[in-house]
Amino acid sequence: MIEFQNEPFTDFSDDQERMSFARALDRVRSQLGKEYPLLIGGEEIETDQKVKSINPSRLDEVVGIVSEADEQLAERAMEAAGLAWSSWKRFSPAARARVLFKAAAILRRRRHEFSAWMVLEAGKSWVEADADTAEAIDFIEFYGREMLRLGEPQPVTSIPGEDNQLVYIPLGVGVIIPPWNFPLAIMVGMTTAAIVAGNTVVLKPASPTNVIAYQFIKILEEAGLPAGVVNYLPAPGRTVGEYLVKHPQTRFISFTGSREVGLRINELAAKTVPKQKWIKRVVAEMGGKDSIVVDEDADLSIAVDAIVKSAFGFSGQKCSACSRAIVHQAVYDEVLERVAEKTKKLKVSETDQLGIDLGPVIDENAYQKILEYIKIGRQEGRIVAGGEKAEGNGYFIQPTVIADVSPDARIAQEEIFGPVVAFIKAKDFDEALAIANNTDFGLTGSLICRDRYKIERAREEFHVGNLYFNRKCTGALVGVHPFGGFNMSGTDSKAGGREYLLLFLQAKSISEQL
Ligand code: GLU
Repeated sequence: MIEFQNEPFTDFSDDQERMSFARALDRVRSQLGKEYPLLIGGEEIETDQKVKSINPSRLDEVVGIVSEADEQLAERAMEAAGLAWSSWKRFSPAARARVLFKAAAILRRRRHEFSAWMVLEAGKSWVEADADTAEAIDFIEFYGREMLRLGEPQPVTSIPGEDNQLVYIPLGVGVIIPPWNFPLAIMVGMTTAAIVAGNTVVLKPASPTNVIAYQFIKILEEAGLPAGVVNYLPAPGRTVGEYLVKHPQTRFISFTGSREVGLRINELAAKTVPKQKWIKRVVAEMGGKDSIVVDEDADLSIAVDAIVKSAFGFSGQKCSACSRAIVHQAVYDEVLERVAEKTKKLKVSETDQLGIDLGPVIDENAYQKILEYIKIGRQEGRIVAGGEKAEGNGYFIQPTVIADVSPDARIAQEEIFGPVVAFIKAKDFDEALAIANNTDFGLTGSLICRDRYKIERAREEFHVGNLYFNRKCTGALVGVHPFGGFNMSGTDSKAGGREYLLLFLQAKSISEQL
């Protein structure tokens, strides 16, 4: 087995790659508007309740029309997952991993096609979509190998006269509720981690990106995954999602999304219902309010570049996005001016061609919410770039920089999940660090700094799950930067890290007297 390596990103300066990506976009475009059924126990089920998936760059373009489940169908999906579990859990770890490796190979062959779906369904730029697909491949390859490792005999201390062993066994039936912002990578990571560990799942995809999830489930089918191991169940979260969380057969819930929904799931899952035989396990990756701290002696080019990339990549719709630039007063004006200047040059448009910096935000709700925050920002600070809607038949918003924001202002504390960054002035390094730690979250953070003493202090005191120095605070790589945050950012899990699969396993200690 080759050691895990991150999938390289596509080199779009290569003509062949550009042409091949454009062809993939054409191919996907020719498939728009199709209908998609639920997949329960391998059976395709159409329902009367349909939801349209819309291209957020062109609001009159329907990407797909997807059947939605009600509670009865959710019950059926739970039954199908339960039935499939009785045989799937008996597949060896190696056999389960093989299904993943096959799926990774298929996805790699169809890489641009999957990225093209994300351009059209999520409004990702070519580069962001390509990185998303590469990360999806990474998750599959990484978790496959991790299961091989955890499937081996685990180290236990031997005592004379006994044969001792520790094995990892699956949990049971889980509910997977992924986000729309990494509609392939995170959905794939959450799903494949759970199933390679020997569980079966009901996958309730994020409604704005139902179609891309369907495309991936078809890959799992092609790779030979037995029917019922993953049940594809688009449905409204508030009713059917909650039904699944509360279900007595649900053994675990793996969720990535907002803090509000994550806490609600945690609360519902904690309540024992009749016929429930276990304490449900909740793995929740929630929000962030992430800072880049710029020290007085920092390399300002690195700082400016890191802030712009981290704040505006995929229009700031990442829980890792930089939404606060905390800058030492000595360099504040210069960093602010250079960030504003660079921000004004960013191209905002439909992402069906290469070279677009920001596409649209995901939907009407997000659009209104972000514009509302910009309005609040006008009162809480001074707009130095953006601040308006941008042109186009979609949810386009100008990348926005708001200066002179106080550390406890709403736009400095609440997750906006859009292309908005607040600048906060700090009088010295101590104050900058204190501000960086003053939110309820603790996901990512970055310090731009040359001073070794301060770097070492930040290593200890900057309380985030993913801490970076002298670089952007987005773009964690599987295996390299295991990803997940502290406090209200979630349950301290690390996607793409070595402990992640343990969240979907339980350890059995076996001892035989000789
Ligand atoms: N892992 C992504 C990154 O490092 C962010 C994931 C998210 O936004 O949910 O940028």
